[in-house]
Amino acid sequence: MQDWQFRRRRQRLVALLREKGITDERVLAALGTVPRHAFVDSGFIQRAYEDEALPIGRKQTISQPFTVAYQTQMLAPAPGAKVLEIGTGSGYQGAILCELGVRLFSIERHRYLHDRAKRILADLGYRPLLRYGDGMKGWAALAPFDGILVTAGATDIPKPLLQQLRVPTDDQPGGTLVIPVGDQDGGQRMHRITRTGEDTYETERTHNFRFVPLLPGEQ
Ligand code: SAH
Repeated sequence: MQDWQFRRRRQRLVALLREKGITDERVLAALGTVPRHAFVDSGFIQRAYEDEALPIGRKQTISQPFTVAYQTQMLAPAPGAKVLEIGTGSGYQGAILCELGVRLFSIERHRYLHDRAKRILADLGYRPLLRYGDGMKGWAALAPFDGILVTAGATDIPKPLLQQLRVPTDDQPGGTLVIPVGDQDGGQRMHRITRTGEDTYETERTHNFRFVPLLPGEQ
């Protein structure tokens, strides 16, 4: 397939995401730019611009475009914001965040997927800092973060992630954690948790999703 054909499919996907309620123009522009077909396995290229999750190996998936757009819109990072992603997976969500101009750090617990994402993102010219490890511990050495985005379903909110959010000051707002929380059978509810002080957080709960599980340890 030619570049212009992929571009046309991306524009159709963006129109669909608009219909489904995504309103942030920066997010829509990023999804209209990043070549999702570069992040799927070769057998799925024809389906890369359908609004569906697709397998990427190790029983993991590249998230559905709507989910990526929804989580990014909920995080709404300012350009230059320091963002930590948990669950690099294919690297697609990371590329969307890079398009928004954030300084991105991302952790993946599968060595195979970490290596795969590193290669794809470098080939496309994105320069996030990727780490192989357990994202439930966050990345303490680089904290605090303006935003933390978890792209796997959590049963509980990992404490280190809350602790690694920026504490608000007079000139900077508190950090925001976007995380799907729920049990594995019933799916997860999207949570947005904003740090309002040293020991205080504000929580909003929105729609239901179904993510692959957030699991401890490395593979
Ligand atoms: N953001 C990804 C979505 C991948 S699915 C994308 O755009 O493609 C979620 C990913 O989270 C999987 O790759 C899974 O291996 C990873 N994951 C699950 N638990 C994790 C943990 N504790 N630390 C880091 N990654 C984890």
